[in-house]
Amino acid sequence: MAGAAQALPGDHVRITTNPVTEPFWQAAKEDRLVALACGDCGTFRMPPTPYCPNCRSKAQNWVELSGRATVFSFSIVRGYPGFPDIVIAAAVLDLEGAPGARLVSDIIEVDPDAVYIGMPVTVTFSPITEGWKIPLFRPAENS
Ligand SMILES: [Zn+2]
Repeated sequence: MAGAAQALPGDHVRITTNPVTEPFWQAAKEDRLVALACGDCGTFRMPPTPYCPNCRSKAQNWVELSGRATVFSFSIVRGYPGFPDIVIAAAVLDLEGAPGARLVSDIIEVDPDAVYIGMPVTVTFSPITEGWKIPLFRPAENS
């Protein structure tokens, strides 16, 4: 798709993990999208944090999601250091099955002018450095 929004090339994307975030990345490596819910009260929290902001429990319940999401907000980024021609559709997404949890990701394979708030999207997993994968999203109509 000419002029379609893209993510940064995977060999330029590096992540760090910690014990709280690693389950998210391990799942992504297996093409699964998960979100952290409190093991006591069920409140979702993303990004993952050690304590539940609702009840302060440390209990964790990683929930596997459908991979469907809805655009809550977005920004079209034209050019990035080292990639003057890239167009990135950076989005904040509401995750189906995880009310209250939002994920920041990129929407790919889309005309940047066609992105809108409320747009349905579906996850796809793309390789990055050190064997990890990153969840990206495509318009749901294409999948
Ligand atoms: Zn809780």
